[in-house]
Amino acid sequence: MVPETSGHPLNGLKTLIDTTTILRPAPSIFTGCNDLIAGRYRLIQPLGEGGMGNVYLAEDQRLARQVAVKTIRPALSSNAEVRARIELECRLHAAIGVHPNIVTLHDTVEENGRLYLVMEYFVGETLAGGLAATYRSPGYPLQLTLDIISQILGALSCIHGRDMVHRDIKTANILLQPRADGRYLVKLTDFGIALIDTESEAMHRLTSLGTQGPGTPIYMAPERIDPQTFGAICPATDLYAVGIILYELLTGEPPFKGSMTEVFTGHLMQPPALQKLSPALPAGIHTVLHRALAKKPGDRYQDAQAFLDDLKTLEAGLTSLPSPSTVIQATLLATTHEEAAASASFESTMLNPAVGRDRSLPPSKRKWLYILAVLVMVMVLVFAGYLLRAHWLKVLGTPQSPSEYAPTATVPAKAAPMSDLSPVGREPEKKPSALQTVETLRQENKADSKTTGSETGASEPQEWQVIETHSRKIR
Ligand code: ATP
Repeated sequence: MVPETSGHPLNGLKTLIDTTTILRPAPSIFTGCNDLIAGRYRLIQPLGEGGMGNVYLAEDQRLARQVAVKTIRPALSSNAEVRARIELECRLHAAIGVHPNIVTLHDTVEENGRLYLVMEYFVGETLAGGLAATYRSPGYPLQLTLDIISQILGALSCIHGRDMVHRDIKTANILLQPRADGRYLVKLTDFGIALIDTESEAMHRLTSLGTQGPGTPIYMAPERIDPQTFGAICPATDLYAVGIILYELLTGEPPFKGSMTEVFTGHLMQPPALQKLSPALPAGIHTVLHRALAKKPGDRYQDAQAFLDDLKTLEAGLTSLPSPSTVIQATLLATTHEEAAASASFESTMLNPAVGRDRSLPPSKRKWLYILAVLVMVMVLVFAGYLLRAHWLKVLGTPQSPSEYAPTATVPAKAAPMSDLSPVGREPEKKPSALQTVETLRQENKADSKTTGSETGASEPQEWQVIETHSRKIR
């Protein structure tokens, strides 16, 4: 916010621009307070003082609204040339109509030989006052500066579009009103020396009025000082003044200052000291200032829109480099979004679990998981089969190896009776195999035949018969 300056609204301007005091008439006394102009406008309090007169806050009693009334000094009001110039100013001003960045002209009044201009009352501070009070050094922040300059250029684009040149662009003619979002609403005022190209001849005579002539040296383009060398006044003349204001806002001081001679010499011959700009500023601002402050009008921006476009490009570059606060906000925003996404994911998972699984496992990993699961299942089945087989073998008996079927000498002739074995530690009862049984019987038969003395062996059963008999038993 632009802070309130104490005292006269022009104090800041006078502190900042010593040279302009040379151009001004001696301060007048605000004597008009409480006057009723044209039976309608009641002057309430002075707002400021200009080259041609005073500006008052007034009440429009017919429409019950506040207005600003600019009074023209009696000495000037009685001058035919001045009257012609003011009337032209009013027509130019009225032709613009309503523009968000230009103070609106409501009415003109002539009473008792004096002229009054009735304008929109704009609550605010001049840019000159703001600069002097707060932003001498190191200047306005870049974003704020670009915003203010862009609005001035918006007003000039409208004025130039109507073949007019303002010719008195300066910080004292720019009013700022703080807005709720921390920015300013900017309004351009004072069309006292505006010029229509088609009437340039007549206007050239009018602007030579007085000893000083209109305008402020701090913002004067080279062609206004030396038209023979630099040519006629044109829209680029106003844009040069905007360049000066841009420099002043960024550095806290105008590029050319000092005595009138020093200021004029600077405008005509010296390049602006761009090295005074903060190194933190983007390089593009040097390019813009270099072009806006070119000595030759033809080397400058030819219209306000081109100037504006370059500032927009510059501003776009700034937004691509987020400030720390923006980063924090973005992080907070991202966190919020992540939380929201996580919450949404959770909800969708609850509604449709497959959604959650799909999100948590990519297809390639899922394939390997399936393969692993199949392998595990195969291993489990193999192991279960092994256990089952072991169990059934235990139930059905231990399988013998082929060698066990062969008759051996170790086979006991008779199995030990069951009663000989205690239940605890009892050896598992082994059934003799069929061949063992056959062998046993054969041995027994041989022994029997020896003891009975049988020679023919006719009654002795053949081996095959024994085998046949026992194999049937086994089956
Ligand atoms: P000059 O006409 O010599 O260039 P100037 O532009 O400095 O003088 P004025 O236009 O006469 O001055 O305005 C004088 C002061 O009155 C301004 O600086 C501003 O503070 C105030 N003022 C001018 N117009 C308005 C307005 N419409 N609403 C509110 N205040 C205004």
